[in-house]
Amino acid sequence: MVGEITRREALAGAGAGTVLGVLSSLLPGEAFASTKAELGPFDLLKLPPLPFAEDALEPVIDKETVKIHHGKHFAAYVAGLNKNIQALDKARQTGNYDDIKCISKDISFNASGVVLHWIYFSVLGPSGSQGPTGKLLELINRDFGSFENFWKQFAAASKSVEASGWGVLAWEPFSRKLMILQSEKHQNLTSWGAMPILVCDVWEHAYYLKYQNRRAEYVDNFAKIIAWPKVEERLLAYCQI
Ligand code: MN
Repeated sequence: MVGEITRREALAGAGAGTVLGVLSSLLPGEAFASTKAELGPFDLLKLPPLPFAEDALEPVIDKETVKIHHGKHFAAYVAGLNKNIQALDKARQTGNYDDIKCISKDISFNASGVVLHWIYFSVLGPSGSQGPTGKLLELINRDFGSFENFWKQFAAASKSVEASGWGVLAWEPFSRKLMILQSEKHQNLTSWGAMPILVCDVWEHAYYLKYQNRRAEYVDNFAKIIAWPKVEERLLAYCQI
């Protein structure tokens, strides 16, 4: 009989260790050791606390949406990843990999969902943002020509995601440039190695209570709640320049 595998056991298991090892290997660990805890590393199998009050993003995003988004949707991806890791651990223990294709797809979906939601909530804050400064602004100007050019592309990408997905500003480590991605679901249309530093969740659960079908209005207002200093902290942790 196979009993319930506890989270602790899953974490200790080879499955979890390897999967999380692969994920964390994407991160420059040494750099993170000297940066703030919210930049990582973090336990993908545990829901991180909301870093601000549930009503902190009003009026751009209402309290109820933030509460459900973090407490239900984000939590569901964490719970899903826990189940996936348990399934992988079981496959490794039994040597039966008949379901490995399904398990791998599920891990890609849920782990990507966890990472993107962690970044989403970590780079937002009360409205009144003054825009990027410092190294972040310097690189935005270098790679997009101007902040206006950057935002025009980021907003257009976010607004036009097919079905559910994300607009993503990422640090691309091979070319050492900033790039904008448009991911579908969580894991599709990504680029290997790109490290997200700012993400706009355009799943309907992120905005539907207040904006209904008006995604474009949500994306335009999203600009007001970006905590740019936190975006820059993430960039500096990743790019090492
Ligand atoms: Mn979401």
